[in-house]
Amino acid sequence: MDMEKNFHMKGGLGDTSYSMNSSLQKRVADKVKHITLESIQEMYSKTAPEIVSIADLGCSSGPNTLSNIKDLVCAVEIAAGNMARPVPEFRVALNDLPTNDFNTIFQALPDLYRELKIGAGRSLCVYIGAYPGTFYGRLFPTKSLHFVYSSNSLHWLSKVPPGIYDKNGETMNKGSLYISVRSPPQVVQAYLKQFQEDFSLFLKSRSEELMSGGRMVLVMLGRRGSSHADRETSLLWELLYQSLVDLANQGELEKEKVDRYEVHFYAPSKEELEDEIRKEGSFRVELMEAFEMGKDRANYGKVVTLTVRSIQESMLAHHFGETILDKLFEHYGRLIDEHLAKEDIKSISRVMVLTKL
Ligand code: SAH
Repeated sequence: MDMEKNFHMKGGLGDTSYSMNSSLQKRVADKVKHITLESIQEMYSKTAPEIVSIADLGCSSGPNTLSNIKDLVCAVEIAAGNMARPVPEFRVALNDLPTNDFNTIFQALPDLYRELKIGAGRSLCVYIGAYPGTFYGRLFPTKSLHFVYSSNSLHWLSKVPPGIYDKNGETMNKGSLYISVRSPPQVVQAYLKQFQEDFSLFLKSRSEELMSGGRMVLVMLGRRGSSHADRETSLLWELLYQSLVDLANQGELEKEKVDRYEVHFYAPSKEELEDEIRKEGSFRVELMEAFEMGKDRANYGKVVTLTVRSIQESMLAHHFGETILDKLFEHYGRLIDEHLAKEDIKSISRVMVLTKL
């Protein structure tokens, strides 16, 4: 399947949209916000450009998109003030896949521009544009960026790893839709290989686009240890697989279709990330830290269910048809709640700060 044509978070502002269901992703970004803002301030204080060029990769569509940009711009404004320098101008590039709902972001721009002008004599010059395309490849001109930010996006691979299919085109991962304890070693290898190819291409592309001294802050899901069938990262996928199997058993969808459904996702370990960064060779790792997120509110199960729906809906609808979505996520929600009654559902994220040498 062509991800550039089919994969997107649910657009618009409706009940099942990403916009209305991205509070968990916001919590992740907020948890490491101090690191993100210190990084852009440090970059600015060392290089002090007159025009600061920022890119948000995998920006999606919703309140998180522009609030991230606003925080970055304001952090530089403060850093400039501390150095008694005039506030620089900003060129901001919002990137996501072409089917992302950029229009909803554009409609929120006038409010953001207004907010950035509030305050005596304050008149921040921020020019925002969209750059649709995959971040696994070049998006911007050579040495044109000072700061790259990406939150909750890099755990998406460019495609379902081709190596999970045997020579007859049959999946070797029947019985799972991501790496699970049941997956054979070839499947694990195929996912790892795809991650390595994708992440190295990401680094190479950004190393050409960033100026020397430029920074990247990357926040993404990951695994704590080396084990691939890590419970924290696989549980939500396991429960989604179980929901699909249950619906197939009720005759709501075809079992073979369930066997063929796979996610283009990968949660790397610290070592796997470090290996690719070292091999690529043009970034210094300033910081790499893992952190855990878990239940934080009474209706957590519902929030998790709606979050997964807004993320997976485009792919599920493409594969199974739209008509199953309501039933599928009703059932998924029940499985999540049953699980939460027994134990918390946790996820591991990791933040990285890299400097272009
Ligand atoms: N940064 C936002 C959105 C995260 S959702 C936040 O933290 O809330 C993940 C986003 O990554 C989605 O919008 C998805 O379309 C985008 N994405 C996934 N793969 C991508 C790729 N190869 N190129 C660009 N964007 C991608």
